[in-house]
Amino acid sequence: MTMRDSYSRRIDYLRISVTDRCNLKCVYCMPSGGVRHLRENEVLTDEEIVRIVRAACRHGLRKARITGGEPLMRKHITGLVASIKETGVHELGLTTNGIMLSGLAGELKNAGLDRVNISLDTMNPGRYRAITNGGSLDRVWKAVEDAGRAGLSPVKINVVPVRGLNDDEIPAFASLTFENDYHIRFIEFMPAACDGTWKRDKCVSSAEVINRISVLGSLERLEFRGGGPSRNFRIKGARGVIGIISPLSDHFCTFCNRLRLTADGKIRPCLFSGINVDMKTPMRNGASDRELERLFCRAVKLKPRRHLLNEDITSGHLKAMSEIGG
Ligand code: SAM
Ligand code: SF4
Repeated sequence: MTMRDSYSRRIDYLRISVTDRCNLKCVYCMPSGGVRHLRENEVLTDEEIVRIVRAACRHGLRKARITGGEPLMRKHITGLVASIKETGVHELGLTTNGIMLSGLAGELKNAGLDRVNISLDTMNPGRYRAITNGGSLDRVWKAVEDAGRAGLSPVKINVVPVRGLNDDEIPAFASLTFENDYHIRFIEFMPAACDGTWKRDKCVSSAEVINRISVLGSLERLEFRGGGPSRNFRIKGARGVIGIISPLSDHFCTFCNRLRLTADGKIRPCLFSGINVDMKTPMRNGASDRELERLFCRAVKLKPRRHLLNEDITSGHLKAMSEIGG
């Protein structure tokens, strides 16, 4: 069954946050003092997540992505990946900072994971430590290699360029596509609850990213928004792909096909809206599968037409990205 929201958008993608905890504290994602963590019994169990995904699959869910916090910190993540894949989702991805991925890549692939996105904002070890509050860049590079070897390909690398922090590395990241079949995805820096780090002038617009990359060669446009928010390009002669994601300068709300499930069991129809539908409380009070389906459909219908961050930054109901899954 195809699910359409109130604006006739087909909704077939769920981002599932499996934990609000993280082993890093990236400056653009979390406040330096950290966030209040959920207690263990506030977080959905594996069975609860799988029940929600099953209900969603009966209403047209085709793609899911596991995220967090850092999803690989969740106990028995491989088993959860296998159970989610068994619900019948066609494509299952996972977004990770890569710190714990290296030893798990093969297991995750065998459990049914199709693809992985690894977040990496700099190729300089000292800068990486500073941005992430102590992370080891070597471990992330190893994860990139091991993920490719395990067949979690194409490996996608998420880069958030922030002016004055890492934007000087935009051409170097793009150049990685000459020798590798990676997808390098530049995501505009979005406002989040992170010590006021976000300022409009720190956000490097997608237009500027494209401009800075174009010195490397002519950019060939690939398919138009291949089912996701990314506009894709290839530099002439390169093996890999450049993805441009513009949630602010060219918001893709018109094409948005996604909902988010938070670690504590709320469906958020939009990253920047305070609207949510609680699935956990009814489930723990004995809701039937039909009732869960009805709640899921209600969340779809509540999806706002678009976010209003460009008009009014205070409209964003901002939380740390780690709390809602980025
Ligand atoms: N911990 C995992 C990771 O870092 O990949 C998954 C969760 S993280 C919240 C998901 C994605 O959100 C990452 O690619 C991260 O770079 C991105 N992100 C976090 N804060 C952001 C912000 N303020 N603007 C744009 N992207 C952000
Ligand atoms: Fe953790 Fe990912 Fe946020 Fe960095 S971006 S603090 S790795 S959740």
